[in-house]
Amino acid sequence: MAFEGVDFLRLDELYSDEERLARDSVREFVSREFLPRIQEHVRRDGSFPMELVPRMAELGLFGANLHGYGCAGLSNVAYGLVMQELERGDSGLRSFASVQGSLVMHPIHTWGSEAQKERWLPRLAAGRAIGCFGLTEPDFGSFASGMLTKAVRHGDRWVLNGTKRWITNGSVADVALVWARSEDGVQGFLVEKGTPGLVTSDIRGKLSLRASITSELSLQDVEVRESDRLPGAQGLRAALGCLTQARYGIAWGAIGAAMACYDEVVHYCRERIVQGGPLAGKQLTQEKLVEMLAGITKAQLLALRVGRLKDEGKLHHTMVSLAKRENVDMALRVARAARELLGANGIVDDHQAMRHMLNLETVRTYEGTHEVHTLILGKHITGLDAI
Ligand SMILES: Cc1cc2nc3c(=O)[nH]c(=O)nc-3n(C[C@H](O)[C@H](O)[C@H](O)COP(=O)(O)OP(=O)(O)OC[C@H]3O[C@@H](n4cnc5c(N)ncnc54)[C@H](O)[C@@H]3O)c2cc1C
Repeated sequence: MAFEGVDFLRLDELYSDEERLARDSVREFVSREFLPRIQEHVRRDGSFPMELVPRMAELGLFGANLHGYGCAGLSNVAYGLVMQELERGDSGLRSFASVQGSLVMHPIHTWGSEAQKERWLPRLAAGRAIGCFGLTEPDFGSFASGMLTKAVRHGDRWVLNGTKRWITNGSVADVALVWARSEDGVQGFLVEKGTPGLVTSDIRGKLSLRASITSELSLQDVEVRESDRLPGAQGLRAALGCLTQARYGIAWGAIGAAMACYDEVVHYCRERIVQGGPLAGKQLTQEKLVEMLAGITKAQLLALRVGRLKDEGKLHHTMVSLAKRENVDMALRVARAARELLGANGIVDDHQAMRHMLNLETVRTYEGTHEVHTLILGKHITGLDAI
């Protein structure tokens, strides 16, 4: 059955033609080309349907809200709707596009030299190159300011040493944006695949985001040129600026995961007969479905307002923290309730809810954990930094 979305408050009327078109074309791509493949990739831990990358590029999904250099130049609301539809497929699919666009292309676009932009952005937009973002380390996740990876300058070259862990697409990336501490503070370096001293290995045994490649990057005396340093990215603030972009996409993406679970479970409950009648007709079931619809609808309003503010240049990073925190929390609750209503059937991968539920555990953790966003907002309210 074709997925029709969830739109209780007729929000469709608030989107432009361009925004609806972007959403609908990704919705169709996910239904026709991605979903038939997902089960196979989930069963093979750490694999992604790489054959879809050229198609994703053709649809303009990489760096979709950036302008120039072969990027689609969509509004931020259209970009958000694209992320929503991708995550309706799987958080791994949305993560692929988020990392490529928000965590690699955005920083090059914002802080790169003209030569870096011309070299990388058209290739990344066309999916001819894949990027990854190396900030997290084995001992420093939530508070990257403690990072141990070092960059030491020798004339016009830099030598990088350290380990980055939990890096999406690390082993398949043609270019890694590696954040390292230098004498002048934290800086970002573009490290190309095959650079001597760069070794990648994939993390296995994940129970979440299985249809996504997650790697460790080991850097031992990796030499890069001064021209590989992002000249405009000074300090950790730049790395955190990338995260704000990605978190914005996640606030929308989580709605997609919740919609997938809700859509699946409403159909299921209508068909499933318990005690002589449809499960959908039971009072406790209806309460669960109402909570789901209410959560999705409130999340849509939050995302839309945040998106319009971003398009108007009025967005503050704390607003993104609120949207990421609330919408992911909502999606996880929807996925858990949907899994519950599916009963035993809900634990097999013919149904989507448990896959989304497990994925959302990662989404709650990465790009600022739920607690980190709580502390960001707590500081905003009180002026007191509890971190
Ligand atoms: C599948 C996957 C993909 C990822 N992809 C990337 C990527 O591409 N690039 C990248 O750089 N990173 C990536 N990450 C890493 C991710 O961003 C980190 O896991 C995240 O920042 C949390 O860090 P941590 O795992 O070290 O947890 P920790 O920082 O050790 O936190 C553990 C727990 O303690 C809580 N906590 C921490 N500090 C406080 C405090 N002061 N008060 C109260 N509670 C606190 C946290 O909220 C959390 O619940 C990925 C992670 C996963 C799982």
